[in-house]
Parts: sequence; C-alpha cells; structure tokens
Amino acid sequence: MRDANDTPADGTSAEPKTSNFLRAIIERDLAQGTCASIRTRFPPEPNGYLHIGHAKSICLNFGLARDYGGVCHMRFDDTNPEKEEKEYVESILDAVQWLGFGWQAHGQSHLYYASDYFDFMYRAAETLVERGHAYVDEQTPEEMRASRGDFVTPGKDSPFRSRTPEQNLARLREMRDGVHADGAMVLRAKIDMASPNINLRDPALYRIRRATHHNTGDRWCIYPMYTFAHPIEDALEKITHSICTLEFEDQRPFYDWLLERLIEAGMLQAPAPRQHEFARLNLTYVITSKRKLAQLVSEGHVGGWDDPRMPTIVGLRRRGYTPEALQLFAERIGVTKADSWIDYSTLDTALRDDLEHKAHRGMAVLDPVRLVLTNWDEVMGAGHLEPCTLPALPHPPEGQPAPPARQFLMGREVWIEREDFEEVAPKGYRRLFPGNKVRLKGGYVVDCTGCEKDADGRITRVLASLVPDTKSGTPGADSVKVKAAITWVGVADGVAAEVRLYDRLFTDPHPDAGGKDFKASLNPHSQRTVTAYVEPSLAQAAPDAKFQFERFGYFVADRIDHRPGHPVFNKTTALKDGWK
Ligand code: ATP
Ligand code: MG
Repeated sequence: MRDANDTPADGTSAEPKTSNFLRAIIERDLAQGTCASIRTRFPPEPNGYLHIGHAKSICLNFGLARDYGGVCHMRFDDTNPEKEEKEYVESILDAVQWLGFGWQAHGQSHLYYASDYFDFMYRAAETLVERGHAYVDEQTPEEMRASRGDFVTPGKDSPFRSRTPEQNLARLREMRDGVHADGAMVLRAKIDMASPNINLRDPALYRIRRATHHNTGDRWCIYPMYTFAHPIEDALEKITHSICTLEFEDQRPFYDWLLERLIEAGMLQAPAPRQHEFARLNLTYVITSKRKLAQLVSEGHVGGWDDPRMPTIVGLRRRGYTPEALQLFAERIGVTKADSWIDYSTLDTALRDDLEHKAHRGMAVLDPVRLVLTNWDEVMGAGHLEPCTLPALPHPPEGQPAPPARQFLMGREVWIEREDFEEVAPKGYRRLFPGNKVRLKGGYVVDCTGCEKDADGRITRVLASLVPDTKSGTPGADSVKVKAAITWVGVADGVAAEVRLYDRLFTDPHPDAGGKDFKASLNPHSQRTVTAYVEPSLAQAAPDAKFQFERFGYFVADRIDHRPGHPVFNKTTALKDGWK
C-alpha cells in the first residue's frame, strides 16, 4: 500500500499523454489566466464500493491535477443520510491510495466531507429565500410532478410560489426546526416553470428527512439535494474544473444559475467553478452501477464486493489487476464527449503490458497426470533428484538486474498436463505420444513409451524414458532434436495448490443496456476451482504476488486465502485474448 502522504505517483508517464478536450480546456484556461493553477475533485457518494468507472474518474481528476501541477480534492459527497456508511468511506480512501493517488499536496491534506458544509448550505438557502430566489412548496409530490410538465408542455406555477420572502423564511425555519413531517414540504428554487430545460423548472433544494447521518448524527432533519449541494461544495473548495459524467450536462445551467445568485449575494467569490462533462466508462460484459453491484452482493450471486469477478476496485485488485494497469487503461481509453463501449480486452491488454516484464514466471500443472521415467533409477541412481533452474524473468526491465533464477527438482516422477499426452496422436500433435520425444522445460528430453489406465480406461500414468545427457543448459543438450517443450512440476517438490479459474460474470456484452435485466445474463460457469501442482517458487509466494504461469497466463496469489502450506491462486487473464 502506498502512503497517503506520498506525492501522487507518476504512474504510467512512460507512455506519452494523448491530448483530449479537457486538457485543451485546461491549457486554454491556464494560458488566458482564467485560473492560476487548476483544482479538480473526485467526489464519490460513500454508498458502495468503487468500480472500474470510478477508477477512470480518479485517474482523470487526480491525473490532470498531477500533470498540470494543481491539486485534486478527495471529497465525500455525503449529503444523503440514508445510504451512506463509514465502511464505504474507508474502502474508498483505500481504493484511491491503492490506485496510486493521494490527497496530500503542497504539504496540505485535501480530504473533505460535503456534510461539513451543511451550515453554509443552510445559510445559502436562507439567502436565496430572502432575495426572492426560493420558496417553500407544500404541494404533494404527486401535485408537484403533475405541474412540472414535460418536454412539450410547460410546467404550471405552484399555488405557493407567490408567498413573500418573510413567509417563506418562517416556513424554512420551521422545516429546519422539525415542526413539519418528513415529505410535508420542500424548498424549491424560483426560476422558470416554463423553461425548456426541465431542470430549471423550480428544482428542489432541501427536503425534510429524519435520518441519522454518519457524520452529523441527528443534528439535521432537513438535507440539501445533490444538485444544490454539489455546486456549493465546488465553489467553497475553489475548484476550477468540476469534471463529471454526461448525464449532468442538463444540470449545468442550474449549476451556473445557483453560483451566480450566491456570488451576487456576496456569499461566494467569483470566479465560479466551471462544470465540464465527459462520457462515462462502459465496459463490455461489465456493469458499472453501485446499486446493481450491491444487488449482486446482497443476493449472493458473488462472494462479496471483493469477489475476483467483480468490477469493483477491490475485486479487480484481488483478481490480480495492478494499479499501473488500471492507470494505463484509463490513459489509453482517454476521455471523450460521446458515449461508447470499451472492449474488455483493452483492460487485459493493459494488464499484460504492465506485467510482461514484471511478473515472475513459474510452472504450474492445472490438470495433472503423473509421468513416470522408467529408466530413471538406472540412469540417474535410485532416489536421485536433479536440481534444475529457469530464469524468474527472461527479459527484466531495461537497466534492472535479473532476479535470482528459480530452483526446482526433477525426479523419477513428475506432474504433466493431461492434455500433453495422446495415446494416438492427432495430426500435427507434437507433444507426448508413444515413440515421440519432448523436452521437459528446463530439464531433460524424454522419450514416450506408453501409459497405464484404470478399469474405466482413464489414464493414470504416462510412461517415458529419460534421454541421458540432454539436460537444458548443459553442453550437447541440443544434440537430440525435439519439436516441443512441455511444462511440468516435480512430484518430489511440487506443492498442491488451489487455483481459481474465472470466466466473465455475464454472457451478454451489454448486460444492463436499455434497462435489460442484467441478472438474466449471469454466467453460471464464471468460476471453477482446480487442484493444481505448482513449483516451489510459486508455493512460497507472498499474498498478492503476481506471476505468469508459463503457457497459461497471469495469476495472483490470493490476498485473503493464500498462505504458506495452502497456496491459492486466482487467474487474472490468459496470455492472449481468447474471447471471441
Ligand atoms: P453509481 O451509479 O455507480 O453509483 P455514481 O456516479 O452515482 O455511480 P458517485 O459516487 O456519485 O457514483 O461517483 C463519483 C464520481 O465517479 C462521479 O464524479 C462520477 O461521475 C464518476 N463515475 C461514476 N461512474 C462512472 C463511470 N462509469 N465512468 C466514469 N466516471 C464515473
Ligand atoms: Mg451518484
């Protein structure tokens, strides 16, 4: 875990940064002196665990601040008392730090809670009322909905719209003091019930809700609406570029209206922050909605928020994705103003590119069958174990020394993949079949002689003889030509391991598009566990260590369940993109 006090990591700066419309806006604003330096923010609501979509927003907001020497605020948008919990606050802070970012800048902490501004927000509400820009509406929710109109019909004024500021102020104070029941009335902005933008038809600013808040307890029985609270939070924190997803585009006129009114009233200082919208991340075979992800957890479709099949940051982390891979992914997908779907393979490619020169190699046999070298005792001596080695990293990153080589033992019996032997070889098959020679990777060449089967005809042992003087790396080892080298693990030093193999969680590339029932496309075969044998270097891995299992792909030692004596690995992704 990185320290929160670190300056933000510079992540994937090795790849050139591609420009985008937000960078263009920022560069223009800095050049024109609209702002002296930039200030962005990442403002999650603490009502669930963060997902890959949030990772995009984190990399974007913290990344822009880093690249332009500005500051990114970590802010909890905790204005809704009902669904918010401390557990989520902790997990969000953890996720941001794990991704490689921090809220410490220029020796100062920039961690904020919107609920700390409740007093200011309330004063702002009174100011709007006093200046004739807001009123208390006592219509029922149904009446309000009916009088709002729609895209073709203008709305109708509420009968309560013409009350005087004094009457409204008295009412607002009664709301605050708990005189009225939940839902009995709301405070609304007084803008224009005929506006073509429905968001400007007197939007609600405050509602009565008796609920205990995780930060302010029972101090308030009225809570600000998100659309009222958010611009104020941005302005109080002197955010310069308030970056949000496209669905807030229609809210921008209200954002600007509210801040203009409060600047006019002397409650806030100009210049006001500006809102800019970008397209949210949609990833194929994935859902990115906290509410729907919460449903998968609560209904037991997955093992928890950190199930390795979940697109949550904790899930991706447990699956073996690295912060660097997620940053690289975010950089490559860029930001645009048009909604689109990103192919899941983009994420896996970023992971492979990150791990290719970092993840140590190792051999594991996932579907084991014994290979017996029948002449071993004769050639090598009874009970002899031959030490073998292979590099942990065949191509270490430039300028870095190679790590120590892996050590493992070859003996009379080794584990091989069941699919690496065929009694009758299909055309083009180059691995073990009677009469064919292959190399055991990093060990000797063996000459296949046959197999043994049980009563059901299932192969129990594959038989071969060792070809002397062919050990990898010894003089003359290549004198015997083979067409294949197969992976293996010694029976003497191989360790049994639990290996969890994953497939996509949904079978539909767009599981919840167009209001579809995402649970209808849950993949019943998204998880499979096998007992494998792994070489000693893998068995000794620290939790969370990433490996490339030769020929199979990238795996991670499970953060939670892996321990000495009980290795557990999760498959992160294959070596190549196998999804069709
Ligand atoms: P959800 O619908 O999953 O609850 P949200 O937008 O309501 O998501 P917030 O906690 O309000 O969740 O989000 C915090 C920030 O993350 C916001 O600025 C939001 O725009 C951004 N964000 C959320 N989902 C995505 C996504 N899929 N792609 C990009 N940014 C996202
Ligand atoms: Mg939200």
